Amino acid sequence: MNTKTVTSLTNGTVKAVRALHMRKEREESGLFLAEGLKIVIEAIDCGHAPKIVMYGPDAADHPMLKKAVAACVKAGGEVIEVNREILEKVSRRDNPQAVVAVFKQVFTPLSAIAPESAPCWVAMQAVRDPGNLGTVIRTADAAGCGGVILVGDCVDPYSVEGVRATMGSIFAVKIAKATVQEFLAWRETWPGSVVGTLLTATVDHKSADYVKPSLILMGNEQQGLPPELAAACDVNVKIPMRGRADSLNLSVATGIMIYTVTG
Ligand code: SAM
Repeated sequence: MNTKTVTSLTNGTVKAVRALHMRKEREESGLFLAEGLKIVIEAIDCGHAPKIVMYGPDAADHPMLKKAVAACVKAGGEVIEVNREILEKVSRRDNPQAVVAVFKQVFTPLSAIAPESAPCWVAMQAVRDPGNLGTVIRTADAAGCGGVILVGDCVDPYSVEGVRATMGSIFAVKIAKATVQEFLAWRETWPGSVVGTLLTATVDHKSADYVKPSLILMGNEQQGLPPELAAACDVNVKIPMRGRADSLNLSVATGIMIYTVTG
């Protein structure tokens, strides 16, 4: 294979890949890190060629590695073989994946979203937890949603932890971001139902009439949906809380809503 071997943590490529744990570095470079050969292959199948492929001794003979290396080389990227210590440092894990790769971030402009291309879309307002966001992206993909729109000050969908939680779905659905004002203006053009989720809503999530394409709007983990966004929805619904818990985890509530709306 067309690769070089690197054994030093001071190697420039290794340093650049490790730096992608920092949001500032991801924003400046427009790149992010994805871990695991299966996810790298899924990315390639979705049309995303890796900029860098880094693999350890455990993956060197894996038949699928050739495909990842070929896609990277074809796109003018860099392939390096590293030792386990480097993989541990890059992934910040004792038990790292044998392959990690660097990809270009993709954000779809709101104006490029075709609502009718999917029965359901999800908007997340000020989501803070990368695991929640990654899980929502994975669930949106699994249920056939078109994508996830990040509204306001949200966690980075391309954080290492968030990408891990997507299990590869970050490559399969559209990701957009908008300020609250941009979202409110765009929402005016939405052809189907815009559905808010509120603990104070009086409409049960199963009894609402959802016109497709539906846009589900989820609130922040601590404060919930702010009044100006709730007021901009066609309907606000609540998932019944029957025990002592006063709310559901954000990603669980989103999953219930996605499958309720899409049937
Ligand atoms: N203290 C917050 C509040 O009063 O809204 C709790 C927020 S909850 C942890 C995070 C988000 O998950 C909510 O904004 C809402 O979008 C969704 N959510 C959680 N439980 C829900 C429920 N029972 N019905 C509807 N949405 C729910």
